[in-house]
Amino acid sequence: MGRLKYIDELDLKDKKVFVRVDYNCPMDSAGNITNDFRIQESLPTLNYVLEKGGALILASHLGKPKGKPDKKYSLLPEAKRLSELIRREVLFASDCIGQEAQEKAKALKPGQVLMLENLRFYQEEEKNDDAFALKLANLADCYINDAFGVSHRAHASVDAITRHVSACAAGFLMKKEITYFEKAMKAPARPLVAIVGGAKVSGKLQVLENLLKKVDSILIGGGMAFTFLKAQGVEIGKSLVEDDLIPTAKRTLDFAREKGINILLPIDCVVADKMDASAQTRTVDINNIPKEYLGLDIGEKTVALFGETIKNAKTIIWNGPMGVFEMKPFSYGTLAIIDKIVKSHAISIVGGGDTDTAVHQAGKEKEITFISTGGGAFLELLEGKELPGIKSLERC
Ligand code: AMP
Repeated sequence: MGRLKYIDELDLKDKKVFVRVDYNCPMDSAGNITNDFRIQESLPTLNYVLEKGGALILASHLGKPKGKPDKKYSLLPEAKRLSELIRREVLFASDCIGQEAQEKAKALKPGQVLMLENLRFYQEEEKNDDAFALKLANLADCYINDAFGVSHRAHASVDAITRHVSACAAGFLMKKEITYFEKAMKAPARPLVAIVGGAKVSGKLQVLENLLKKVDSILIGGGMAFTFLKAQGVEIGKSLVEDDLIPTAKRTLDFAREKGINILLPIDCVVADKMDASAQTRTVDINNIPKEYLGLDIGEKTVALFGETIKNAKTIIWNGPMGVFEMKPFSYGTLAIIDKIVKSHAISIVGGGDTDTAVHQAGKEKEITFISTGGGAFLELLEGKELPGIKSLERC
C-alpha cells in the first residue's frame, strides 16, 4: 500500500482533472438548493486546479435516483450555483459518460469547468463497476477525490476509477477531514472527551468500542442513554430502549470503569407522555421517570454535570444529539451542550448529519473548530475503519 498523496503533490498544468465532489446538497421540492455548504467546501480544491492551469471535470451523485435518469435528481442546479460561486462558466454534460461527455471533456481548455450529470443515473456507479469506472477515467488525465461524504462507499467514482488513472490524490476537503480526525484520535491534546448521543445504541456500538480505547471521558446522552441506564437498573418508563443490547451496555460500562475512563450518563431528563412538539413536559431526576412517560432530552443537572467535563477538555469529539432536538420542547439539552462546547477552550470536532444540523440550528457553526461534511464516513472513521475512498487512493 502506497502513501496517501494530496492534490498539491500533483502537476496539474494543462491537465484535465477529474474531481469527485460531493454535491449531494439538500434541495426543496421546487428543485432549489437549500444549503450549498458542500459546494462551498469544494472551492479550495477547484480554485487550486484552475490556478495551476488545469481544467476541471466534476462528478457527483445527488439523491437516490435508483440507477436511472430522473430529472428530479439532475445536477444542473448545482452547476448553476457553482458557476455563481466561482464566477465563471460551468459547462454541463447531460450524461456522465457517452459521446457528449467525451466531446465536451476533449474540448476543455485550461481554466474551463465541465460538470457531469448525476453518476447514480447508472446503477454501475454503486456497483463499483470497472467498465463504467474506465469510461469516467478516460475523460481525464488525473483523478482527485474530494468527496469525503462518500468515501466510506466503494463506488465506481470513488474506488474502481483509481485503477484506471495514472495519477490520483486527495483534495483539500479530504485533507482537512483526515487531518482533523487524526489530530483528535491519533495524538490528541488531553483530556480527550467524546460526547455520544442520537437514537440507538445499535448504530453506535462500534463507535463506542473504538472510542473507549482512546478517550479520557465519554458522555452519553440522547435516546441511546436509556439502554445504559436500564442496564444499571434505572426504571426508564417508555423511553427508547434496545433490550437485547442491555448485556452489551453493561459490559461497556464495566470495561470503561475498569480502565478508569470517566463515563457519564444523564442524571435527569425531560419527560413527556408522547413524542410530540405539543406534549406537556417536565424535568425529573433519572430515578423518577414516570412509568407512562418517555425521556426525550437531558435535563439541567445533566447539562451541568457534562459541562464540568467539557470545561476541562482539550479535545472534544461529538456525534449525536442529546435529545429530540428537532422539537422545541426537547432541544434544550443539545443546544446547552453546544454552548458548553463553544465556551470551552478545546479543539472541537463535530460529525454526523444530525449533530451538524443542530450546530447550524444554534448558529454556532463558526465557533466549532471543525464540522465534518461526512455523516456515515465520519462515523466509520470513529469506528476505527479504513475508508475505501482513502484505501483506493493509497493503492493508486
Ligand atoms: P442518530 O442518527 O442515531 O444520531 O440519531 C439522531 C436522532 O436521535 C435524532 O433525530 C433525535 O431526534 C433522536 N433522539 C435523540 N434523543 C432521543 C430520545 N431521548 N428519544 C428518542 N429519540 C431521540
